[in-house]
Amino acid sequence: MSVRVRFAPSPTGYLHIGGLRTALYNYLFARRNGGTLVLRIEDTDRARFVADAESDILESLRWSGIDVDEGPELGGPFGPYRQSERSALYRDAAEQLIASGHAYYAFDTPEALDAMRNRLASQGSSSPRYDAMTRMEMTNSLTLDANEVSARLSAGDPHVVRLKVNSGQDITFTDAIRGQVTFRSDEVDDQILLKSDGLPTYHLANVVDDHHMEITHVIRGEEWLSSTPKHILLYRYFGWAPPEMAHLPLIFSPSGGKLSKRKSEIEGIPVFVREYRQIGYEADALVNYLAFLGWNPGDDRELFSKEELISEFSLERVGSSGVQFSIDKLKWYNEQHLRSLPDTELVTRVQRDLVKRGIETDEKYLTRVLSVMTDRISLAADLASQARYFFEDPRGYDEAGVKKRWKGDSAELLSAYAGRLASIEPFDAATAETALRDLADEQKVGAGRIIHPVRLALSGVTFGPGLFELIEVLGRETCLRRIRAAVDTLGH
Ligand code: GLU
Repeated sequence: MSVRVRFAPSPTGYLHIGGLRTALYNYLFARRNGGTLVLRIEDTDRARFVADAESDILESLRWSGIDVDEGPELGGPFGPYRQSERSALYRDAAEQLIASGHAYYAFDTPEALDAMRNRLASQGSSSPRYDAMTRMEMTNSLTLDANEVSARLSAGDPHVVRLKVNSGQDITFTDAIRGQVTFRSDEVDDQILLKSDGLPTYHLANVVDDHHMEITHVIRGEEWLSSTPKHILLYRYFGWAPPEMAHLPLIFSPSGGKLSKRKSEIEGIPVFVREYRQIGYEADALVNYLAFLGWNPGDDRELFSKEELISEFSLERVGSSGVQFSIDKLKWYNEQHLRSLPDTELVTRVQRDLVKRGIETDEKYLTRVLSVMTDRISLAADLASQARYFFEDPRGYDEAGVKKRWKGDSAELLSAYAGRLASIEPFDAATAETALRDLADEQKVGAGRIIHPVRLALSGVTFGPGLFELIEVLGRETCLRRIRAAVDTLGH
């Protein structure tokens, strides 16, 4: 049987970084096994529906290079791929369970449910719920006579359909990552399967679709592990074979908090995939990093292309304990991926960012800038944010730098150095360096006495690439103009 997996996000918000990890593992597993990846939009929760969430999910997957084989855009033999378009299927399934005695209609009002919970709580119950213990005290098709049930249904009385969970049973399944997992059926309440609006809950729709879409492996986050016994019971009551289950480890922030999708940022970690795209992370670097948030190849290799991940990925090498998200590590991956890009690719990336910021430059110059800067940036956007001086004269000079480096003789030394730069041939790093060291010797000062104020004059800041490389890239005219301007501004 060929592998069919699914990524099944709910459009209740933008695609979350943890969601992307889930999508990625499904993608890698599908590709590794020559299988099919289905994208299913689980949009039955109308109260939490967010209109542009689905387009964000599609766009984020596309940007990440995770292409699906079947889904709302592409269609496929098991469509439609939005649960809101599959309602009839869930109603039929619910009726099938009612007919076989595994589900029932419940007419309880919210007040009656509250009263039941309060009563149980006051009797000392720690988890008051609708279950085998309480269902016979409530208003449902198990306690009302058949005529009254039909009358209520035809009168359109508000009702839900609940799963009838038998008590005293073990619910056991094998998780590909965690091994054998057992829950007691007493811990599971009589789940609502169809809500009063006629729409299914997550549990019913998810199981019905996984079955009808012939999903072979359910790969999802650990937060769904506690739902799995409900799903296993549903498979059992429907008489269907459940798919293989694999629950991926939770992702934590550095302080051990959960990366919740209700916040957009936690401890400096952006939560939504679109933010990584906006900041300018390389999709391949993010994918490489996320692959390692739970999986490893079994040796110390860290840099993988998507193709390499596909050929090595396996669920056996996914760990079960929680993993910590580290922005620094992600930046490291991004640096490595940037440096491995062909020069022209890198130029294109950086130029795109510069254009966005209204900075004009030509490719030839940018290639020279990158020859000295590639090793100093983690993101394409770092060039503009950290080294704008390659493209514009400094608008001011770092105050602390001036205080420390601009001395009484700086103006004079810099003017003299500008005089040398005006005529050196060729105008390159080595010649600029010799000229500076000769001048320092003649003036009997340390070279640093000239180097540091020249750097301030050229860049406005006290850090950056080697000074002589900077001089060569900026070119004669720019260097002379900037040194003159600094002498004018900072004076003696
Ligand atoms: N709709 C669920 C979600 O938002 C799907 C969970 C599952 O994969 O079963 O993640």
